[in-house]
Amino acid sequence: RFITFEGGEGVGKSTQVRKLCERLSDQGISSVRTREPGGTPKAEAIRSFILQGKPESWGVGAEAVLFAAARLDHVNALIAPALEEGKWVICDRFADSTRAYQGLTGGVDSKLIDSLEALALDGHAPDLTILLDMDPGTAFGRVRQRAAEDGLAGIIDRFEKEDLSFHHRLRDNFLAIAKANPQRVIVLDADKDQEALAAAIWQVVEERFPE
Ligand code: C5P
Repeated sequence: RFITFEGGEGVGKSTQVRKLCERLSDQGISSVRTREPGGTPKAEAIRSFILQGKPESWGVGAEAVLFAAARLDHVNALIAPALEEGKWVICDRFADSTRAYQGLTGGVDSKLIDSLEALALDGHAPDLTILLDMDPGTAFGRVRQRAAEDGLAGIIDRFEKEDLSFHHRLRDNFLAIAKANPQRVIVLDADKDQEALAAAIWQVVEERFPE
């Protein structure tokens, strides 16, 4: 089983990915927790190359191509082998992020996004995608609070890199992707406490994979 989590900044994806893997492990199901951009040494190198570089040094088109190269390595070196071993793969962001960020929000042509996706996935589409949806203003407030408590400055920088209208467009674009893929993508309201959200996610997973 291949499950991906998607959504904007600060909606709680990484916490929920971790909680789902713990829950699976409690059920005796072995899973691999991974993330994008990144997931393998080569793909992580591309991640730092893009995210830590000067934002102006890459256009969105080049970003889309580089993220696809990272994804191809991630799929071939980690995701496909784990699935073949019968493990579940739980991934924090995947191809929908490229479609939402670089494609629909960044303006990269949808045909290019389609081709890059076909190339990078190499037949390994997610079985289920959980889209964690939240008002970006609320998400930013929560991130600020958490950053003040835990000293997580990085995510604040990323949030502030774009104005709030960018995050609103991004949210609408993720929702449009969900609407276009109703079988694969389940939208959950992420504006609730972590335990309640984890329970909602588990319910979706149990319904989808009852065996
Ligand atoms: O999910 P995570 O916080 O690790 O994502 C890191 C950053 O990478 C995000 O803040 C997002 O702005 C960026 N990103 C992107 N395009 C993607 C995936 C992530 O710009 N396709």
